[in-house]
Amino acid sequence: MHEECGIFGIYDHPQAAKLTYLGLFALQHRGQESAGIVVSDGFSLAAHRGLGLVEKVFNEEILRSLRGKLAIGHNRYSTSGSASAANVQPLLISFFGEGIALSHNGTLINARELREDLESQGFIFQSTMDTEVIVHLLRKLSQTQGKRQALLATLRRLKGAYSLLLLTNHEAIGARDPHGFRPLVIGKLKESYLLASETCALDLLGAKYLREVKAGEMLAINEKGLKSFRIAPPAKLAQCIFEHIYFARPDSIVFGEAVHQVRERLGKRLAQEHPAEADLTICVPDSGMVASLGYARQSRIPWGMGLTRNHYIGRTFIQPVQFARDMEVKIKLNPIRDVLQGKRIVLVDDSIVRGTTCKKIIRILREGGAKKVHFRISSPPIRYPCFFGIDTPVQKELIASSRSVEEIRRSIGANSLGYLSLEGLLSCVTRPQDYCTACFSGNYPLKVPPQTKYIFEVKKTTKV
Ligand code: AMP
Repeated sequence: MHEECGIFGIYDHPQAAKLTYLGLFALQHRGQESAGIVVSDGFSLAAHRGLGLVEKVFNEEILRSLRGKLAIGHNRYSTSGSASAANVQPLLISFFGEGIALSHNGTLINARELREDLESQGFIFQSTMDTEVIVHLLRKLSQTQGKRQALLATLRRLKGAYSLLLLTNHEAIGARDPHGFRPLVIGKLKESYLLASETCALDLLGAKYLREVKAGEMLAINEKGLKSFRIAPPAKLAQCIFEHIYFARPDSIVFGEAVHQVRERLGKRLAQEHPAEADLTICVPDSGMVASLGYARQSRIPWGMGLTRNHYIGRTFIQPVQFARDMEVKIKLNPIRDVLQGKRIVLVDDSIVRGTTCKKIIRILREGGAKKVHFRISSPPIRYPCFFGIDTPVQKELIASSRSVEEIRRSIGANSLGYLSLEGLLSCVTRPQDYCTACFSGNYPLKVPPQTKYIFEVKKTTKV
């Protein structure tokens, strides 16, 4: 029901499944819990989905068996609840004799309401995913109107964040909610069209980046070419600023801006707001990498590699079990003694969420010989949960929701702690008015129903 994900689709390529596999591989950072691909050969749809990383779920033989020129794929990311096979996407169902597949990135804040309504009318749900609501709604509305209109009418009923890919026998469709919370881009590879969460997937395939799917736009790609439909009149944009801070890959262009550039600006601004008396700037690899370069350039405190990362393990946060999370920090990061010995360090990371990882990292640095650790964060304190697709913990688990900066500093054991201000953050993007900053400010761009908040709370506090 609640996830941040990577989605990829391709229209008209003889190697559709293979390219989708590569696209998902480039988007692996957006979801490591499960992966799936659905292909169309023009007559029917076929799927392969499984738990784990893309390279674990697929092999040569499986990809060869997925025949067809159209495909969509999905990487799922979830830190709450157990990894469940029932929730693996793309969702594939069949109605009125035709298959339809969906890949969804985002969170619908009215999913519960829509689900109850549909259930009371006799629709039977098989998963806990928001995405299933879309399918049932589409089926219901298709009874009284044409397919195109039914899909538009379905999208108009959804509230919240969605970047969505749909696949039928003959068509690939991309849609983005009117607020544009989550990214979605379109590219071209010779005659084939590609849809992807981020441009890094297009780069890998040597495809040309055409543009973003606009907020509130539905793009249908079929044998007639590309056709754009408007889901709703333009709404105030609420693009997720956390994509720039942490989530997206630095080599991507997201919301029309190069992520790397935004991140470097964040680091520079952070150095202006929170200078430090130090000998060396280091980062938490890889999340704080680019911002730390910005910090070093601005402060002229040399940059060095104080920590090495074992790349064969995913993001620490991704593992939902606390025990494994504890171990993972050690498995993942090792201090470089020669670099740290006797030095006053500026440690840069993109954010503090629970404050558990960074506490361990600071301890590791001290054990590795650092004399002082000045911790700098390239975003403001996260005080509020996200209901629009980034999987943050419940509010009481967010360390900054109940503690001052000084209390956090003490709790994590840093010599000093400085967070980037909200104004500073907004000064680093070209159109600050187009972003959602609710996790920092509590100003949600859409009113979240109390029932939805309650469900989020229950789901996350009953983790495995
Ligand atoms: P902690 O010190 O335990 O609060 O963990 C902070 C680390 O989690 C930082 O290095 C961030 O890069 C990372 N992080 C922040 N937000 C998320 C998120 N939504 N999902 C996964 N990791 C995150």
